[in-house]
Amino acid sequence: MTAARATRCLLFACLAGSSLLGLTCGEESLQQNATRAGAERPASASPDNSADTDAQASPPRDGPPGANWQVVDDLRAERAARAHPSDGGGSLRFVESPPALSVGGRARFEFEFEVGEHGVAEGGRLEFLAPVSWGWSPAWFSERAPELGEPAGRVEVESPEGVRWTALPTGDGRCALRLGGRDLAPGETLRVTFGAGPAGARVDRFAERTPALYVRVDGDGDDVAKLVDDIPQVDIAPGPAAQLVAHLPSSVSPGETVRLRLAVLDALGNASPDFEGELHFPDAPPELGLPASVTLSVGDGAHVALEITPTVTGLYRVFVQGPHDLLALSNPMLVVDNAEPVRWADLHGHSALSDGSGTPQAYLAYARDVAALDVIAITDHDHWGLPFLDERPDLVDDLRSAVRDAHAPGNFVALFGFEWTSWIHGHRHVLGFGEPEELPWISSIDPDFEDPRQLWERLRGLSARTFAHHTSGHPVRTNWDIAPDPVLEPVVEVASVHGSSEAADGPAPVSGSRDGSFVRDALLRGYRYGFVGSGDSHDGHPGLAHLSAGRGGVAALLGADLTRESVRDALDARRCYATSGARILLRAALDGARMGSVLAAKSEASQLVVVAYGTAPLASVELVRGAQVVERREYSEMRLDALESFELPPLNAGEFVYARVRQTDGHTAWCSPFFVE
Ligand SMILES: [Zn+2]
Ligand SMILES: [Zn+2]
Repeated sequence: MTAARATRCLLFACLAGSSLLGLTCGEESLQQNATRAGAERPASASPDNSADTDAQASPPRDGPPGANWQVVDDLRAERAARAHPSDGGGSLRFVESPPALSVGGRARFEFEFEVGEHGVAEGGRLEFLAPVSWGWSPAWFSERAPELGEPAGRVEVESPEGVRWTALPTGDGRCALRLGGRDLAPGETLRVTFGAGPAGARVDRFAERTPALYVRVDGDGDDVAKLVDDIPQVDIAPGPAAQLVAHLPSSVSPGETVRLRLAVLDALGNASPDFEGELHFPDAPPELGLPASVTLSVGDGAHVALEITPTVTGLYRVFVQGPHDLLALSNPMLVVDNAEPVRWADLHGHSALSDGSGTPQAYLAYARDVAALDVIAITDHDHWGLPFLDERPDLVDDLRSAVRDAHAPGNFVALFGFEWTSWIHGHRHVLGFGEPEELPWISSIDPDFEDPRQLWERLRGLSARTFAHHTSGHPVRTNWDIAPDPVLEPVVEVASVHGSSEAADGPAPVSGSRDGSFVRDALLRGYRYGFVGSGDSHDGHPGLAHLSAGRGGVAALLGADLTRESVRDALDARRCYATSGARILLRAALDGARMGSVLAAKSEASQLVVVAYGTAPLASVELVRGAQVVERREYSEMRLDALESFELPPLNAGEFVYARVRQTDGHTAWCSPFFVE
């Protein structure tokens, strides 16, 4: 069963990504896509809705409540299945090159499929799959189109004489056709149209060079299908300039030379490389020494960095104004004597090598040049997406060398990692803090590494750390019955494109969240975690995932140098905090100790001081002690900054407290907890 079943699971993961985007960005076409995907999805096969899985995981087996053994069994069966030489045979090419395409547009693609050297036997199967992750129309066979109201993505196949096709029900946006009538001989050709109906086929939201259609071939009819390697690529251009982003470092000493980074993006967060125009700095603080304007030309890649040397202490934000009503307010920059640096990091994201968009090189360059991050990690899936990377050491080596090339100690830290995609105990991404080749690729599908304790034993002694993420719900919850390794897992991801896993009373909880699976539930079990946010982006926009998805995450690392070791040390000491993407500057101290500290219990009251500099007006500062929010300071007047002091009755051993800062635009920052022993 299983090759088909596993493919179906794959597509569900992708469709889940679309629905997330569709619901949050409000683009009509994507909402339609998400709605259709949801309507077509048989709940029993869905790994991406944990609310379904408790009741429907089959067969019943030992494991935590959110476990979905069916997915694991299917993936293992597919891996064990022996391919026939004819499986995956053939090639696809354009009959004529498609017209110029830009993000979210529609097109009609005409292909010729040439049968491979081993032919396709009667009873064999061809499957056509659009890369549905980021906005492509799912592929539909024309026979089914009327009942579906002629959706975009219709497929038509013109075949040689004597050939008959039967559409197989898939229910997942995969167009699967069974060959009847006769065998297809090597070298015979079929004409395949994708987007044959009046609605055409909708293309990617991400500007990239990408396959327009994947083909899988089961050449001998045993239901084991393999991807065809030889498929044509299309270029999807970004849309027009629609937004401007401006980033400053958050904490700087007087006299330090730093950079103001500007980037012009389309509405979906893609850099608009054809942009040219002048960006002005009205009312710029003279102490920053900014020019009156800067000009961006074609060839600048839609981004520019300006060196500034602030000499006067204070808090600065910079307004930037461009043509077409482009306007940006930078994040706050605090200039203080002996400033402790704040490094902005995205420690979790995916490229087109697993189930995301874009090349690893493009992902890393975006993180550095457009998102102005200090630290980036790329964490493609162990065994999920197209193709499965645990079967492609050549592609894993490509990932390693992309990270090696991008890493520039002192300027920009690039980390190699992967996602241990366990459908039983919850997903964890794994980062290496040594050279990329020192971190092995460990697959959760491997029975020797299906439990996080087996993962940690394999990593012990290596400079590696693991990060539980989307712990409370979609697409799979974390099994908190297994205590995190105190050395290898010092922090947890509380925010990403999936939403927040912090607590039921937190903002934008991950869909399908359940009590008992939140990060706060883990703290209540006595686990000590610092907090990070990260994008878990699949759209090639690390550090700015929230711009197109509406939700995202980044991590602030306090006092870290720009080396891998120093980044690891900050995480180990929980000198870090999480945000949902906005670069809010947050400081917190409990009786003078910094966030992430462990303090001794005492019989007197304690004082927690929270300082927040927002990127938008602040809504509230909240104090969490144990299971509850125990105090909330709300702001009715417009204010960008806050300084709050909370008086806490005596703290007992085993307790924890932390602060949460919310902005009126929905963004949130969470300081790492203080623990009492
Ligand atoms: Zn995950
Ligand atoms: Zn992920």
